[in-house]
Amino acid sequence: MTSSRFDLRGKVAIVTGGNGGIGLGMARGLADAGADIAVVGRNETKSAAAVADLKQRGVKAIAVTTDVTDKAAVAAMVERVVGELGRIDVLINNAGMSIRKPPHELELDEWNKVIDTNLTSAFVCSKLAYPALKASGNGKVINIGSMMSIFGASFATAYAASKGGIVQYTRACANAWAPDNIQVNAILPGWIDTDLTRGARQQVSGLHERVLARTPAGRWGDIDDFAGIAVFLASPASNFVTGTAIPVDGGFSVMA
Ligand code: NDP
Repeated sequence: MTSSRFDLRGKVAIVTGGNGGIGLGMARGLADAGADIAVVGRNETKSAAAVADLKQRGVKAIAVTTDVTDKAAVAAMVERVVGELGRIDVLINNAGMSIRKPPHELELDEWNKVIDTNLTSAFVCSKLAYPALKASGNGKVINIGSMMSIFGASFATAYAASKGGIVQYTRACANAWAPDNIQVNAILPGWIDTDLTRGARQQVSGLHERVLARTPAGRWGDIDDFAGIAVFLASPASNFVTGTAIPVDGGFSVMA
Protein backbone atom coordinates (compact mmCIF):
# COMPACT_ATOMS: atom_id res chain seq x y z
CA MET A 1 0.00 0.00 0.00
CA THR A 2 2.68 2.48 1.00
CA SER A 3 4.83 1.71 -2.01
CA SER A 4 1.92 2.16 -4.46
CA ARG A 5 1.72 5.81 -3.39
CA PHE A 6 5.19 6.28 -4.82
CA ASP A 7 4.78 3.91 -7.77
CA LEU A 8 5.48 5.57 -11.13
CA ARG A 9 5.20 2.47 -13.33
CA GLY A 10 3.20 3.26 -16.47
CA LYS A 11 3.96 7.00 -16.17
CA VAL A 12 6.03 9.12 -18.53
CA ALA A 13 8.18 12.04 -17.36
CA ILE A 14 9.92 14.80 -19.29
CA VAL A 15 12.98 16.20 -17.54
CA THR A 16 14.46 19.31 -19.16
CA GLY A 17 18.17 19.46 -18.44
CA GLY A 18 17.86 15.79 -17.48
CA ASN A 19 21.22 14.92 -19.02
CA GLY A 20 23.29 16.06 -16.04
CA GLY A 21 23.35 17.67 -12.61
CA ILE A 22 20.16 17.98 -10.57
CA GLY A 23 18.02 16.98 -13.58
CA LEU A 24 19.81 13.65 -13.88
CA GLY A 25 19.49 13.10 -10.12
CA MET A 26 15.72 13.57 -10.39
CA ALA A 27 15.46 11.47 -13.57
CA ARG A 28 17.25 8.60 -11.84
CA GLY A 29 14.80 8.77 -8.94
CA LEU A 30 11.79 8.70 -11.26
CA ALA A 31 13.27 5.82 -13.26
CA ASP A 32 13.94 3.82 -10.09
CA ALA A 33 10.24 4.31 -9.24
CA GLY A 34 9.30 2.93 -12.68
CA ALA A 35 8.69 5.98 -14.90
CA ASP A 36 9.77 6.14 -18.53
CA ILE A 37 11.84 9.24 -19.13
CA ALA A 38 12.40 11.76 -21.93
CA VAL A 39 15.70 13.55 -21.38
CA VAL A 40 15.64 17.03 -22.91
CA GLY A 41 18.84 19.00 -23.47
CA ARG A 42 21.14 20.36 -26.17
CA ASN A 43 24.30 18.29 -25.63
CA GLU A 44 23.80 14.98 -27.43
CA THR A 45 26.80 13.27 -25.84
CA LYS A 46 25.58 14.03 -22.31
CA SER A 47 22.03 13.01 -23.23
CA ALA A 48 23.16 9.67 -24.71
CA ALA A 49 25.06 8.87 -21.49
CA ALA A 50 22.03 9.81 -19.37
CA VAL A 51 19.72 7.64 -21.46
CA ALA A 52 22.08 4.66 -21.09
CA ASP A 53 22.14 5.21 -17.30
CA LEU A 54 18.33 5.41 -17.11
CA LYS A 55 17.74 2.36 -19.30
CA GLN A 56 19.91 0.31 -16.95
CA ARG A 57 17.22 0.98 -14.33
CA GLY A 58 14.73 -1.07 -16.39
CA VAL A 59 12.65 1.71 -17.95
CA LYS A 60 12.31 3.23 -21.41
CA ALA A 61 14.35 6.37 -21.91
CA ILE A 62 14.77 8.63 -24.93
CA ALA A 63 16.88 11.71 -25.59
CA VAL A 64 15.13 14.58 -27.34
CA THR A 65 17.69 17.16 -28.41
CA THR A 66 15.97 20.48 -27.80
CA ASP A 67 16.84 24.06 -26.96
CA VAL A 68 14.08 24.95 -24.50
CA THR A 69 14.25 28.62 -25.53
CA ASP A 70 13.02 27.63 -29.02
CA LYS A 71 9.21 27.32 -28.98
CA ALA A 72 9.01 25.34 -32.24
CA ALA A 73 11.62 22.89 -30.95
CA VAL A 74 9.67 22.46 -27.68
CA ALA A 75 6.47 21.78 -29.65
CA ALA A 76 8.29 19.11 -31.69
CA MET A 77 9.75 17.65 -28.47
CA VAL A 78 6.31 17.31 -26.84
CA GLU A 79 4.93 15.70 -29.99
CA ARG A 80 7.81 13.23 -30.11
CA VAL A 81 7.45 12.24 -26.46
CA VAL A 82 3.73 11.55 -26.88
CA GLY A 83 4.44 9.69 -30.13
CA GLU A 84 7.24 7.51 -28.77
CA LEU A 85 6.32 7.08 -25.10
CA GLY A 86 2.54 7.42 -25.45
CA ARG A 87 1.67 10.05 -22.83
CA ILE A 88 3.01 12.74 -20.49
CA ASP A 89 2.29 12.51 -16.76
CA VAL A 90 5.17 14.51 -15.31
CA LEU A 91 7.00 17.60 -16.57
CA ILE A 92 10.09 18.77 -14.73
CA ASN A 93 11.18 22.26 -15.80
CA ASN A 94 14.80 22.07 -14.66
CA ALA A 95 16.93 23.47 -17.52
CA GLY A 96 18.78 26.51 -16.28
CA MET A 97 21.88 28.68 -16.48
CA SER A 98 23.35 31.82 -15.02
CA ILE A 99 25.36 34.83 -16.15
CA ARG A 100 27.01 36.22 -13.02
CA LYS A 101 27.27 40.02 -13.13
CA PRO A 102 26.00 42.87 -10.97
CA PRO A 103 22.91 44.75 -12.26
CA HIS A 104 24.89 47.69 -13.69
CA GLU A 105 27.13 45.43 -15.75
CA LEU A 106 24.61 42.94 -17.12
CA GLU A 107 23.64 43.58 -20.76
CA LEU A 108 20.06 43.30 -22.00
CA ASP A 109 20.82 40.30 -24.22
CA GLU A 110 22.39 38.55 -21.22
CA TRP A 111 19.32 39.33 -19.08
CA ASN A 112 17.06 37.96 -21.84
CA LYS A 113 19.11 34.78 -22.19
CA VAL A 114 18.83 33.93 -18.50
CA ILE A 115 15.12 34.79 -18.28
CA ASP A 116 14.36 32.87 -21.49
CA THR A 117 16.25 29.78 -20.31
CA ASN A 118 15.13 29.68 -16.67
CA LEU A 119 11.63 31.17 -16.71
CA THR A 120 10.09 31.56 -20.16
CA SER A 121 11.06 27.99 -21.07
CA ALA A 122 9.01 26.70 -18.13
CA PHE A 123 6.00 28.64 -19.42
CA VAL A 124 6.45 27.33 -22.96
CA CYS A 125 7.08 23.70 -21.95
CA SER A 126 4.16 23.70 -19.51
CA LYS A 127 1.74 25.36 -21.93
CA LEU A 128 2.60 22.92 -24.72
CA ALA A 129 2.55 19.85 -22.45
CA TYR A 130 -0.71 20.90 -20.77
CA PRO A 131 -3.09 18.98 -23.08
CA ALA A 132 -1.17 15.74 -22.45
CA LEU A 133 -0.84 16.45 -18.70
CA LYS A 134 -4.60 17.02 -18.52
CA ALA A 135 -5.24 13.82 -20.48
CA SER A 136 -3.05 11.96 -17.95
CA GLY A 137 -5.74 12.50 -15.31
CA ASN A 138 -3.12 13.10 -12.58
CA GLY A 139 -0.53 15.38 -14.14
CA LYS A 140 2.43 16.79 -12.22
CA VAL A 141 4.58 19.82 -13.00
CA ILE A 142 7.77 20.37 -11.00
CA ASN A 143 9.58 23.68 -11.48
CA ILE A 144 13.11 24.21 -10.23
CA GLY A 145 13.71 27.40 -8.29
CA SER A 146 16.72 28.21 -6.12
CA MET A 147 17.80 29.84 -2.90
CA MET A 148 17.71 32.88 -5.22
CA SER A 149 13.90 32.47 -5.22
CA ILE A 150 14.15 33.67 -1.58
CA PHE A 151 17.42 35.55 -1.21
CA GLY A 152 19.42 37.90 -3.40
CA ALA A 153 23.09 38.01 -4.39
CA SER A 154 24.98 40.82 -6.10
CA PHE A 155 25.97 38.56 -8.99
CA ALA A 156 22.53 36.93 -9.46
CA THR A 157 20.77 39.79 -11.25
CA ALA A 158 18.69 38.00 -13.90
CA TYR A 159 19.07 34.61 -12.22
CA ALA A 160 17.35 35.77 -9.01
CA ALA A 161 14.61 37.46 -11.04
CA SER A 162 14.02 34.26 -13.01
CA LYS A 163 13.96 32.08 -9.90
CA GLY A 164 11.67 34.43 -7.99
CA GLY A 165 9.42 34.47 -11.03
CA ILE A 166 9.27 30.71 -11.26
CA VAL A 167 7.77 30.46 -7.76
CA GLN A 168 4.98 32.89 -8.66
CA TYR A 169 4.46 31.12 -11.99
CA THR A 170 4.14 27.86 -10.04
CA ARG A 171 1.42 29.37 -7.85
CA ALA A 172 -0.52 30.66 -10.87
CA CYS A 173 -0.44 27.27 -12.60
CA ALA A 174 -1.38 25.44 -9.38
CA ASN A 175 -4.56 27.52 -9.23
CA ALA A 176 -5.33 27.26 -12.92
CA TRP A 177 -4.84 23.53 -13.28
CA ALA A 178 -6.20 22.18 -9.96
CA PRO A 179 -9.57 21.46 -11.65
CA ASP A 180 -7.65 19.20 -14.07
CA ASN A 181 -6.06 17.32 -11.14
CA ILE A 182 -2.65 18.64 -12.16
CA GLN A 183 -0.42 19.52 -9.20
CA VAL A 184 2.24 22.17 -9.77
CA ASN A 185 5.06 22.60 -7.28
CA ALA A 186 8.55 24.05 -7.10
CA ILE A 187 11.75 22.67 -5.58
CA LEU A 188 14.26 25.20 -4.27
CA PRO A 189 17.70 23.57 -4.25
CA GLY A 190 20.36 24.82 -1.87
CA TRP A 191 23.97 24.76 -3.02
CA ILE A 192 24.51 21.57 -5.00
CA ASP A 193 27.74 20.26 -6.52
CA THR A 194 27.12 20.42 -10.32
CA ASP A 195 28.69 21.94 -13.44
CA LEU A 196 26.70 25.12 -12.76
CA THR A 197 28.15 25.67 -9.30
CA ARG A 198 31.63 24.51 -10.33
CA GLY A 199 31.56 27.61 -12.56
CA ALA A 200 30.28 29.75 -9.68
CA ARG A 201 33.02 28.52 -7.37
CA GLN A 202 35.62 29.52 -9.94
CA GLN A 203 34.10 33.01 -10.38
CA VAL A 204 33.08 33.89 -6.81
CA SER A 205 36.01 33.70 -4.40
CA GLY A 206 35.31 32.13 -1.01
CA LEU A 207 31.93 30.73 -2.16
CA HIS A 208 32.78 27.12 -1.36
CA GLU A 209 33.69 27.89 2.26
CA ARG A 210 30.77 30.32 2.75
CA VAL A 211 28.28 27.67 1.65
CA LEU A 212 29.78 25.10 4.02
CA ALA A 213 29.65 27.55 6.93
CA ARG A 214 26.08 28.67 6.11
CA THR A 215 24.54 25.21 5.56
CA PRO A 216 23.39 23.50 8.79
CA ALA A 217 23.91 20.08 7.20
CA GLY A 218 27.59 21.03 6.86
CA ARG A 219 27.98 19.95 3.27
CA TRP A 220 27.19 20.82 -0.33
CA GLY A 221 24.22 18.94 -1.76
CA ASP A 222 24.59 16.03 -4.14
CA ILE A 223 22.43 15.31 -7.20
CA ASP A 224 21.16 12.15 -5.47
CA ASP A 225 19.55 14.41 -2.83
CA PHE A 226 16.88 15.24 -5.47
CA ALA A 227 15.67 11.71 -6.26
CA GLY A 228 13.28 11.44 -3.30
CA ILE A 229 11.62 14.85 -3.61
CA ALA A 230 11.14 14.29 -7.35
CA VAL A 231 9.42 10.95 -6.75
CA PHE A 232 7.20 12.47 -4.04
CA LEU A 233 6.11 15.39 -6.21
CA ALA A 234 5.61 13.15 -9.28
CA SER A 235 3.58 10.48 -7.49
CA PRO A 236 0.06 10.11 -6.03
CA ALA A 237 1.68 10.65 -2.60
CA SER A 238 1.55 14.41 -3.32
CA ASN A 239 -1.96 14.62 -4.75
CA PHE A 240 -3.07 17.26 -2.16
CA VAL A 241 0.19 19.23 -2.40
CA THR A 242 0.10 22.05 -4.93
CA GLY A 243 1.53 25.54 -5.34
CA THR A 244 4.32 24.93 -2.83
CA ALA A 245 8.02 25.78 -3.07
CA ILE A 246 9.98 23.19 -1.12
CA PRO A 247 13.59 23.92 -0.15
CA VAL A 248 15.98 20.97 -0.51
CA ASP A 249 18.91 22.77 0.98
CA GLY A 250 20.35 21.07 4.07
CA GLY A 251 18.74 23.85 6.12
CA PHE A 252 20.37 26.77 4.26
CA SER A 253 17.12 28.77 4.14
CA VAL A 254 16.41 28.39 7.86
CA MET A 255 19.89 29.22 9.17
CA ALA A 256 19.56 32.24 11.45
P1 NDP B 1 23.84 21.90 -14.84
O1 NDP B 1 24.60 22.96 -15.55
O2 NDP B 1 24.54 20.65 -14.44
O3 NDP B 1 22.54 21.51 -15.65
C1 NDP B 1 21.82 22.42 -16.40
C2 NDP B 1 21.03 21.63 -17.41
O4 NDP B 1 20.20 22.53 -18.17
C3 NDP B 1 21.91 20.90 -18.38
O5 NDP B 1 21.45 19.58 -18.44
C4 NDP B 1 21.70 21.61 -19.70
O6 NDP B 1 21.74 20.68 -20.77
C5 NDP B 1 20.31 22.18 -19.53
N1 NDP B 1 20.09 23.39 -20.31
C6 NDP B 1 20.62 24.62 -20.11
N2 NDP B 1 20.19 25.47 -21.05
C7 NDP B 1 19.37 24.75 -21.87
C8 NDP B 1 18.62 25.06 -23.03
N3 NDP B 1 18.61 26.30 -23.57
N4 NDP B 1 17.88 24.09 -23.60
C9 NDP B 1 17.87 22.83 -23.10
N5 NDP B 1 18.55 22.48 -21.99
C10 NDP B 1 19.30 23.44 -21.39
O7 NDP B 1 23.25 22.66 -13.57
P2 NDP B 1 22.38 22.19 -12.32
O8 NDP B 1 22.07 20.75 -12.37
O9 NDP B 1 23.03 22.76 -11.15
O10 NDP B 1 21.05 23.05 -12.58
C11 NDP B 1 19.78 22.47 -12.81
C12 NDP B 1 18.73 23.43 -12.30
O11 NDP B 1 18.86 23.59 -10.90
C13 NDP B 1 18.82 24.84 -12.90
O12 NDP B 1 17.53 25.35 -13.12
C14 NDP B 1 19.52 25.61 -11.82
O13 NDP B 1 19.24 26.99 -11.88
C15 NDP B 1 18.93 24.96 -10.60
N6 NDP B 1 19.67 25.16 -9.36
C16 NDP B 1 20.93 24.66 -9.19
C17 NDP B 1 21.59 24.85 -7.99
C18 NDP B 1 22.94 24.30 -7.71
O14 NDP B 1 23.48 24.60 -6.62
N7 NDP B 1 23.53 23.52 -8.57
C19 NDP B 1 20.99 25.63 -6.91
C20 NDP B 1 19.67 26.11 -7.20
C21 NDP B 1 19.06 25.88 -8.38
P3 NDP B 1 22.54 20.99 -22.16
O15 NDP B 1 23.85 21.54 -21.79
O16 NDP B 1 22.58 19.66 -22.85
O17 NDP B 1 21.67 21.94 -22.91
